[in-house]
Amino acid sequence: MFDFHIHLARLPHQKQLTQLFCNGNYGFIAVACEPWEWKIVADLKKEFSTEQKPFKASYGIHPMIATQADDEMFAKLRSALEEDEIAMVGEAGIDKRYPGYDDGTQDQIFITQAKLALELQRDLQIHCVGDYQRVLKLLAEAGFPQETSQGQDAKGLQTLTRLQESPRPIFHRFGGDSSVVKKALPYGALFSLHEDSFQKKSTAKAIPLIPQERVFFETDADETFLQNNHPRHQSSLDGNDREYGECKGDSGTGSGMTSESAAGTTTPEEILTELENTLESVRAAYAECRE
Ligand SMILES: [Zn+2]
Repeated sequence: MFDFHIHLARLPHQKQLTQLFCNGNYGFIAVACEPWEWKIVADLKKEFSTEQKPFKASYGIHPMIATQADDEMFAKLRSALEEDEIAMVGEAGIDKRYPGYDDGTQDQIFITQAKLALELQRDLQIHCVGDYQRVLKLLAEAGFPQETSQGQDAKGLQTLTRLQESPRPIFHRFGGDSSVVKKALPYGALFSLHEDSFQKKSTAKAIPLIPQERVFFETDADETFLQNNHPRHQSSLDGNDREYGECKGDSGTGSGMTSESAAGTTTPEEILTELENTLESVRAAYAECRE
């Protein structure tokens, strides 16, 4: 099992959980989207990464804190990335719910990170809520390379050759429609699917257009994971065509807190089981939507 996007630093029992992952069969990319998270993830990496199982991390500035980003934060981000040669950049992106969306601040913070990904030759984990066209435009502006088309396949999509390597954009918790898929594929884009990706009809329709080798699954588990998953699927069975999924706290300023009440009653083993169940249900939803 591989979790393409998990916020280890936001979950309770981080160390024991990481230990369980590393001892067992749960691969992951630990995404850290603000400075206090970078530190925890880098420390976990130091403790648990081995040659056989290198710890994969991603460091970035989430759009929820775009208006707080300054030169100092970028300098720290760069050094976190330089210290970890296999780390990705992100999550970085655009989110219309957060400050800095209207005045272009989020655009600047995203472009700077996209350029950093290009410079360091790293993949870029992209967070996008409400404005995929803008993200695609910004990727072009940042200079992300695009394939030239090699013809068309049976579904009318361009068939492409290279871009098997970094830097590639990764659309995390993908929620775009088929026009986004078609425009993103020439960038060598990867798509990380979440339970929420199947809630929106236009996204569920677009997912089968993505070549299977570019599809990954994620939990995006963070401090809300345990509340949302006990009992499981409470929110996803209501049949609503939800536009928004991810929300990391209302204030947009991470305080390093994890859900203490859930942490007190849930063991690391139970969290692992919940994560495995969640990934399994994403995989099943993917299989179903391709039928
Ligand atoms: Zn995330």
